[in-house]
Amino acid sequence: MKTATRYLNFIGGRWVEAASGRWFESRNPADHGEVVGEVAKSGAEDVDRAVAAAQKAFAGWRLVPAPRRGEILGRVAAILRERKEELSRLLTREMGKVLEEARGDVQESIDTAAYAAGEGVRLMGKTVPSELADKFAMTIRVPVGVCGLISPWNFPTAIPSWKLFPALVSGNTVVFKPASDTPIVATEMVRILEEAGVPAGVVNLVHGGGGDVGMALVRHPGVALISFTGSSGVGREIAGECGKALKRCSLELGGKNASIVMDDADLELAVDGSIWGAFGTTGQRCTATSRVIVHSKVKDVYLQALVKRARGLKLGSGLDESVKVGPLMNEARRVEVHSHVEAGVKAGAKLLCGGRPASGAGLANGWFYEPTVFDGVKPGDALAQEEIFGPVLSVITVDSFDEAIAALNNSKYGLSASIYTRDVNRAFRAIRDVETGILYVNSSTIGAENHLPFGGLKETGNGHREGGWAAYDIYTEIRTVYVDYSGKLQRAQIDNRPQGQAAPR
Ligand code: NAD
Repeated sequence: MKTATRYLNFIGGRWVEAASGRWFESRNPADHGEVVGEVAKSGAEDVDRAVAAAQKAFAGWRLVPAPRRGEILGRVAAILRERKEELSRLLTREMGKVLEEARGDVQESIDTAAYAAGEGVRLMGKTVPSELADKFAMTIRVPVGVCGLISPWNFPTAIPSWKLFPALVSGNTVVFKPASDTPIVATEMVRILEEAGVPAGVVNLVHGGGGDVGMALVRHPGVALISFTGSSGVGREIAGECGKALKRCSLELGGKNASIVMDDADLELAVDGSIWGAFGTTGQRCTATSRVIVHSKVKDVYLQALVKRARGLKLGSGLDESVKVGPLMNEARRVEVHSHVEAGVKAGAKLLCGGRPASGAGLANGWFYEPTVFDGVKPGDALAQEEIFGPVLSVITVDSFDEAIAALNNSKYGLSASIYTRDVNRAFRAIRDVETGILYVNSSTIGAENHLPFGGLKETGNGHREGGWAAYDIYTEIRTVYVDYSGKLQRAQIDNRPQGQAAPR
């Protein structure tokens, strides 16, 4: 019998087994009989070692000039570019998304590395005039310390790169805990950082479950910052722990994203965008279109075309380039998606297509689920409120723009939204009124560009943004610096004006 390849932790520049000596499997969700590899099953002891290594390395790494750190990220971008196809195929095998999307995932990490390389020569502070004579005032950015990075499985290279690369260029050292569903792609990312010349201890990788490794990292007193992407439930728990310790914490959480299709919309475009938004990545994107809010005047035409397209989507292994929809991540995901669907049917929503695990040639050994569309959903229904994270689209019908915006904002989440309209006034009112961190006009809710801020309002996060320049606000502290070159004691926060002289009005 062929034994599976084993994937290790990376601590202090060495590839090591978990202290437990135990392993867990990573399996192909399109063919769960295939073990992609065995992975070190770690715990708190491994986290302790990794944090100690990161603390030790921080002393040197923070002093490496940022442009030199950026050069290493430039090499990371080059290696990722060279290995793009191989990594994309591995990503599809381990996570299931179709190859075209896997290539997009890897490309996002290439772009993020290139951006980080450039940021090495910026990392801008500000200079402003002082209120006193012969005095200079500025801010500089300094690293935070050891960062704990916890990522989900749905973007196995892109999301880790959003965290790792800005953290490293900013001068931090990191302990990275990837999702236990996609540990092998994560291992390759760390190998690339090692190959690019990141010094020992600067990047540490600890594999394992959220409760064992993730929480140990969150609670570790040596960790100065937690960056977490995942579900709102876990995010809330992490925020509580970080709050108690007054630890810096950035959270990117769930979504229940909606597209509005107005009566003046280009309906062909709206159908294209809805299919891509709802069923791309099998609905397993935090920005997935989970609700469509359609104007009653165009609903019938829109729905007819939408359902026809949804029924025609080809399911299968993402390695087959003709496949449009891959499997769900694992059995638990499929059980959960189906329970939402069953509850929706019970509550009286009208099932237009899908609604069950998919069967057929080539699908028996994977976690496939039929693309599903519900009609007759009301804004307050569970189908319109709960994040399903699967290929399920709920259609809400409205009679006006104001009703559409109210339905869109009737959510505890606030990540992404979109509106299809040809009316520029409506588009700008939507830009003003939607309660989301991202808005697309005349496109789908999904598809972020790496150089722009990414994140959401309400229970989607806690106010931070990843991506672009905004990520650097997470990974740096601002130090305010005054240089007084007057040679005498000048006092700020004292009224220094001559007695009786008022400030000009
Ligand atoms: P999850 O919350 O179950 O897990 C995310 C990560 O946290 C994993 O690495 C997991 O091992 C770890 N974890 C789990 N429990 C933990 C705990 N108690 N303490 C510390 N770490 C713990 O989420 P998931 O199923 O991997 O991902 C799906 C969720 O992620 C969805 O809700 C989705 O919307 C969200 N997501 C959000 C964004 C965004 O940027 N807003 C992006 C992608 C995914």
